[in-house]
Amino acid sequence: MIVFDKVGKVYPNGVRGLDNVSLSINQGEFVAIIGLSGAGKSTLIRAINKMHGITEGNLTVDGIDVKNLKGKKLRQFRRKIGMVFQSFNLVTRTTVIQNVLAAFVPDLSFGRVLFGIFPKKDRLLALEALEKVGILDKAYTRVDQLSGGQQQRVALARNLAQNPSIILADEPVAALDPVTARQVMDDFKKINKELGISILINIHHVELALEYASRIIGIREGRIIYDGPSEKVNQTILDTIYRKDTSKEVV
Ligand code: ADP
Repeated sequence: MIVFDKVGKVYPNGVRGLDNVSLSINQGEFVAIIGLSGAGKSTLIRAINKMHGITEGNLTVDGIDVKNLKGKKLRQFRRKIGMVFQSFNLVTRTTVIQNVLAAFVPDLSFGRVLFGIFPKKDRLLALEALEKVGILDKAYTRVDQLSGGQQQRVALARNLAQNPSIILADEPVAALDPVTARQVMDDFKKINKELGISILINIHHVELALEYASRIIGIREGRIIYDGPSEKVNQTILDTIYRKDTSKEVV
């Protein structure tokens, strides 16, 4: 369970990213975070694995106080939280399986990584992860020969290989065409349903958010202005989330 308790974030340059955010997310939820560019979606997502530290309030993940994590404890904690980005973050000049195996790098000695020597159990886990996202047949293909959608699946498989309980996705389909975007969203849905992994996705395609997520968090100027089921999101709520003026009423 992820719990934000009056969380605020002010960046070192004085810009406020989050303002008094309180919410909790249960294990296994599929949540989409929507809002204008600059609303704070990314700041919210990245607070969870402490890519961006918070400056006010408290944040816990499965009872662990994220604010005070550092060093080895932080690295261990992050292993349970996958992260997928718009830009895939893959090494494109090597094979799919090498990219997935990179998930195990923190546990391996430098020499083993240097020579690409991975234990059999890790190779099996990597192949299993590729099977879960439907690209097992691409295991020994170079990443730069894959389509954007296939590359995002490799990124997803790299996350799955670590057996995460949460996957944070920061605009994972923004660089993809509409058909491929849906295929990747289908993968998120599948791993959410079949593996019970919580999915938190920052997405600017409202239609996709409403279709795939069961819960929507609408954010504006760092504040939550809607938090509820996708089915209850109506045009008035969307207008408030995406309104171009600056007044701050709550839906
Ligand atoms: P979104 O993901 O909704 O586009 P962000 O969370 O990236 O929004 O940004 C929220 C606010 O915080 C914006 O005003 C943005 O300019 C600011 N911000 C984001 N990252 C940084 C940073 N590293 N340093 C300073 N300000 C930042």
